[in-house]
Amino acid sequence: MTRVCPKCGHVARDYEYSVLPEEKRFKFKRSLLAAGTLVGAGIVMFWDVWQIYPYFFKILSVLCIFLGLYGLKLYFKEVSKVCPKCNYDNMPASYEPEGQKIIQEKEYVIKDDSTHICTNCNIKSEHKVQSRTYSLIVTLFGLFSLTISTGSNPIGIIGSLIIIGTGIYGLSTSLKKRFKCPHCNKNTAIAKNSPEAKALLEQST
Ligand SMILES: [Zn+2]
Ligand SMILES: [Zn+2]
Repeated sequence: MTRVCPKCGHVARDYEYSVLPEEKRFKFKRSLLAAGTLVGAGIVMFWDVWQIYPYFFKILSVLCIFLGLYGLKLYFKEVSKVCPKCNYDNMPASYEPEGQKIIQEKEYVIKDDSTHICTNCNIKSEHKVQSRTYSLIVTLFGLFSLTISTGSNPIGIIGSLIIIGTGIYGLSTSLKKRFKCPHCNKNTAIAKNSPEAKALLEQST
């Protein structure tokens, strides 16, 4: 999400802390599935194979867990409404009408990162949805890991359950058809790439 400040014009993005200029910024899609799988796989690995190559797998396992936890933190991190430059406390999102106005005034070039549109008020919003295919793959991978962990690896069971949980949570987001609209607070926000939403978007332009 990108927010713009009506008072000082500051642009706040998901990767605000990056030291690289915009075009060189390393942009990877924040993925709950990748992060959850890393944490789970790291835990599975810690018990399973460290006895064979003790240092290598132990280090790899700890690395996976930390990377995964960092990924989870990024995934759930929201861009603050408070401007870090001037402390204005209600920066609108770039796709909200108030945000759009500032972007036009300041002639900023900012990509529309909204994912959903409300069938009730036409306001766009951003909701996190995971891929159905990848969620299924992650769930199956977790189940596979669970079957080989059961009986011999108590920590592996915990890791496998984390992977399965991640996959199922991902699936639940991909199956959810309607999200809460931040403007009218009803469950009326639908995915922008659905036929119904496309018709709405055409109407509004
Ligand atoms: Zn500001
Ligand atoms: Zn609405």
